[in-house]
Amino acid sequence: MSDVDPGRWIALEDRYAAHNYHPLDVVLTRGEGPWVWDLEGKRYLDCLAAYSAVNQGHNHPRIVTALIEQAKQLALTSRAFRNDRFGPLCKQLSELSGYERVLMMNSGAEAVETAIKAARKWGYEVKGVPAGAAKIVVCEGNFHGRTTTIVGFSTDEGARGGFGPFTPGFEVVRYGDLDAAQRVFSEQGEAIVAVLVEPVQGEGGVIIPPADYLPGLRTLCDEHRALLICDEIQSGLGRCGALFAHSLSGVRADGVTIGKALSGGLYPVSAFLADAAVMDVFTPGTHGSTYGGNPLACAVAEAALGVLVDEQLISRSAELGAWMRDELEALRSPHIKALRAIGLWYGIELHPEAGGARRFCEALQREGILCKETHTHTIRLAPPLVVEKADLEWALARLRAVLGG
Ligand SMILES: *Cc1c(COP(=O)(O)O)cnc(C)c1O
Repeated sequence: MSDVDPGRWIALEDRYAAHNYHPLDVVLTRGEGPWVWDLEGKRYLDCLAAYSAVNQGHNHPRIVTALIEQAKQLALTSRAFRNDRFGPLCKQLSELSGYERVLMMNSGAEAVETAIKAARKWGYEVKGVPAGAAKIVVCEGNFHGRTTTIVGFSTDEGARGGFGPFTPGFEVVRYGDLDAAQRVFSEQGEAIVAVLVEPVQGEGGVIIPPADYLPGLRTLCDEHRALLICDEIQSGLGRCGALFAHSLSGVRADGVTIGKALSGGLYPVSAFLADAAVMDVFTPGTHGSTYGGNPLACAVAEAALGVLVDEQLISRSAELGAWMRDELEALRSPHIKALRAIGLWYGIELHPEAGGARRFCEALQREGILCKETHTHTIRLAPPLVVEKADLEWALARLRAVLGG
């Protein structure tokens, strides 16, 4: 077999790796900006961007340089000692986000776990919920990560089934349904310490709630003294055309989780952001992570945030995103049931008769576009925010060819 035969690499994965993913059969070896290349040298426009971790584009030179320079200098101290990159990054994140305090973790799921722990401790110590009684309201169709606590309140049987028993204390309500949230608050408001919500459900298929949903949740949280916590791990840092998607609804969350694009795809870095009144429930010994806030992570995140701001990727997402939405709306494909769009983020939902989104993703792959189906019938498009209009025009021609119209 030749060196570029993808079958060789696919066989290795299938034989030696756990089968916990169903990837497209493309073996990538190089990336630059919004583009990636496979072993045979074929170029693809990356319209998934590693679930929005690569908003800044692949291998952004400024972030790569920060990574290399810091790796040569100092990579890990643990938080037993201080390092000279941690404080400056926390200041930068605080000033950018408007939250007083920052707690650094690694994966997105860990940031969500941090938010859950903060909300519970705040509930007991500040709100005065009786020990062990705290409730957190979450939404149907949520995706917050893969830990046992988090999958315990997933409504996706594939994510949840077979992994119990689960952590109690979560109440699931319908996403986008304010009446449902109101009911759970009127029944259990005294025990509810937080609502944990994605401002846009990414894994759920780019589901955008009604405009009054987040403001309504904000009001309910204020009335019942609960925290509004927004999971911005995928929706934040520019994807929706704002630093935080929830701010587009004119609300301010009490806590925010970020990850993915916080490192521009170079290293796993996540954070929970909140004001002191919430964050200060954590005291020495109550929470932590060996790698959380390490100098390498901080140097990478500092550069990744710098790129986001200096290259104006957030306004770029809003402007290019609106143009692309109009172009997609003009598609007259017989297969498209609904188009959902916010920033540079699209969920193209197909009619069930189209036979699932997978075959369209495979056809797009042959045309040089990489994207992934979500929830069987939806094609999700989320190109890196550095993408050029000409690249999107190129992609639109191929989408027209594959979808018709
Ligand atoms: C990806 C994602 C997570 C989990 O992040 P990991 O880094 O995969 O643990 C949590 N919440 C949302 C909204 C996500 O999109």
